[in-house]
Amino acid sequence: MTAHSAQVVVIGGGICGLAAAHRLTRHGLQVTVLEGGDRLGGLGSFFSHGGQAVERFYHCLMPTDDELLGLMDEVGLKDAVRWRKTTMGMIVEGRRHRFNSPLDLLRFTPLRFHERVRFGVVSLLLRRLGSGRDLDTLRTEDWLRGLYGDRIWEELFAPMFGSKFGASFGDVPALYLWQRLGRERNVATRGYPKGGYRAIIDALRTSIEEAGGTIRLSTPVRRIGSTADGCSLTVGDGEVLAAEKVLSTVPLPQLRLLADDALASRLPQSDLRYQGVVAGVFFLRRKLTGHYWTPVLRCGTEFDGVVEMSALTGTDAHDGSHLVYVIRYTDRSSRLYRGEPDRIAARWTLQLRELFPELRPEDVESARVFKAPFVEPVHPLGYSTTRPPIVVDGTNLLSATTAHVYPDVTSWNSSVKLANRATSHLLDTLSRREAGEPAQ
Ligand SMILES: Cc1cc2nc3c(=O)[nH]c(=O)nc-3n(C[C@H](O)[C@H](O)[C@H](O)COP(=O)(O)OP(=O)(O)OC[C@H]3O[C@@H](n4cnc5c(N)ncnc54)[C@H](O)[C@@H]3O)c2cc1C
Repeated sequence: MTAHSAQVVVIGGGICGLAAAHRLTRHGLQVTVLEGGDRLGGLGSFFSHGGQAVERFYHCLMPTDDELLGLMDEVGLKDAVRWRKTTMGMIVEGRRHRFNSPLDLLRFTPLRFHERVRFGVVSLLLRRLGSGRDLDTLRTEDWLRGLYGDRIWEELFAPMFGSKFGASFGDVPALYLWQRLGRERNVATRGYPKGGYRAIIDALRTSIEEAGGTIRLSTPVRRIGSTADGCSLTVGDGEVLAAEKVLSTVPLPQLRLLADDALASRLPQSDLRYQGVVAGVFFLRRKLTGHYWTPVLRCGTEFDGVVEMSALTGTDAHDGSHLVYVIRYTDRSSRLYRGEPDRIAARWTLQLRELFPELRPEDVESARVFKAPFVEPVHPLGYSTTRPPIVVDGTNLLSATTAHVYPDVTSWNSSVKLANRATSHLLDTLSRREAGEPAQ
């Protein structure tokens, strides 16, 4: 491991920023993480409930999350993941269905019998059917309509996955769905870390600080400029910091607002759209379906998915209460997104009780609503060739965000993989400079 003395600032204390800072400090770099919020974890951060840390947004690991599992190994959390078989349900027009086995599919009445058979056969072959094809320039709608037929597209796929990308889901490259099916190929098995995602965040924080790194909370970056020999940052109430290199993990539209004019002109010109999310977090006295994930289609609810976290984590951590997330991906300018959280929580409580009439008012212990504006980039066709580069050309700034992980699915695993790519590049650049070689 080569030791460097360079001073690097990482903007953002989500998983990408923390994974990057962890790796850079292990290589001897002086690293400062600047996090605007009052806690680490970004989209995986938490709130306190009954003395326990609870994620604002549901999170789980998949057995294919090699990069994240590798990182957890490095910080002493190798055996911290509890794996469990989970199941999936589906609620269509108020009726509940199981959606796991061939038998469940044969009993799935929202589709006609021949459609159920077609759905099963095509789904089994889907990964193979996509292999070797240029799915990056093929619209998801064109691909799936062609394979499954119009009705399965309209009844199932458009509402199920469309909720994540909004009306333009059909336009998203088919490659995204193909990758997602790869990540979730063993979808029944999911994992959750002992002590929650907070355990990973705390372990990374300890690793960074023990290696001499600095983590500053409540220190939002307000302005960045790239100079001849580094970057200049204005943070908090006007403090000015200098760094040789800056790695930003801030979503691109927000980074654009922070950049001074000279830097902004160097940033990739992108009008990439993002979906935000509204999530209701419920503690219930009874279980709902027992399925981890249940899409909710055409039921008249504002949310369109229910994630029963306790199906994965059990109820012991919350004194026997069931932790349930109720979600809706939506644009940050939508009426729902702009709504007042307590009002959304009150409405969604009623809607949840209509969907599950067995849920009595006293079964709902608490309901809270959280939002995030930049969650899912809505990739245009051919994004593999237009995806922004990690290195902002001609500057000392690197940018590593959820917009950079495509065609991987946005996840902690992809963010760790991206952090590894970005830090490899940075370390390589510094090594070349120390060896007196020209930068590449
Ligand atoms: C509802 C939902 C469910 C999900 N489910 C899963 C799942 O099951 N499994 C999984 O692996 N992933 C899941 N994800 C995805 C995962 O959370 C993200 O892909 C990942 O957290 C992105 O990490 P990041 O570090 O790139 O960005 P972020 O987590 O967004 O971190 C960016 C950080 O930058 C900080 N920041 C922003 N502006 C500034 C500034 N000016 N100055 C300083 N700091 C700033 C922010 O406060 C934040 O902490 C889910 C996400 C959501 C919303």
